Amino acid sequence: MRIDVVSIFPEYLAALDLSLIGKARRDNLLDLNVHDLRDYTHDRHRKVDDTPYGGGAGMVMKPEPWGAALNRIAAESPAAGPLGEKPILIVPAPAGAVFDQAMAYELAEAQHLTFACGRYEGIDERVLEHAAESFDVRPVSIGDYVLNGGEVAVLAMVEAIGRLIPGVIGNPESLVEESHSDGLLEYPVYTKPGSWQGREVPEVLLSGNHAKIARFRRNKQLERTAARRPDLIVELDASTLNRHDRDT
Ligand code: SAM
Repeated sequence: MRIDVVSIFPEYLAALDLSLIGKARRDNLLDLNVHDLRDYTHDRHRKVDDTPYGGGAGMVMKPEPWGAALNRIAAESPAAGPLGEKPILIVPAPAGAVFDQAMAYELAEAQHLTFACGRYEGIDERVLEHAAESFDVRPVSIGDYVLNGGEVAVLAMVEAIGRLIPGVIGNPESLVEESHSDGLLEYPVYTKPGSWQGREVPEVLLSGNHAKIARFRRNKQLERTAARRPDLIVELDASTLNRHDRDT
């Protein structure tokens, strides 16, 4: 997969050199390029913002550098096809659709993703309209709160998407039983020692009885989800529940 990120703080994205995403880059599973938006300015001050039309607080990101940066990325995109296929442009925004695991799975299938990190009060709206000529433009929020810029949102999204690319996580089994993979939160996990601070690992996990362990974990998933995220239980597709789940 190719990923391009445009930001006025490219150093912010240095964390994407670390851990599994950094390794995926070194293993050529992920071709990740970070662009400095100021490289697309032409004035002495490398200005990327200006006052908002209509008045109000804060500054707005100017369209010209964004237009130039995105035009260049679109022209180089491996995903732009002869039949008019468009690469995906994710625009982090608190006013976007909320990012979740299903969206991460969908985006992990893409050949090319571009992320446009806003700052200040956001990016001039015409940039999104213009970009829609070359990209499938998607404003995306990582939650109902406001950050100072899109970089932190991009770190979260690239990590969530990147770990789903085949080969990035050593054991793909570990993706299957995670929170949100089946609509439920994950069960509690334990490791050695079996006894710590007077607290014991649940006995069933030491039993070697795989059916009982699976039942214990499934019950814990259901209990935990009902307690912490009742909204997920309400959304659960009844057909994913078995007879024993209904007794829990
Ligand atoms: N004025 C904007 C609004 O009320 O919708 C908020 C702008 S915010 C201070 C600056 C930038 O941070 C946004 O353009 C966006 O890139 C990023 N951002 C802030 N909160 C975000 C969130 N919850 N999810 C994704 N990106 C966010």
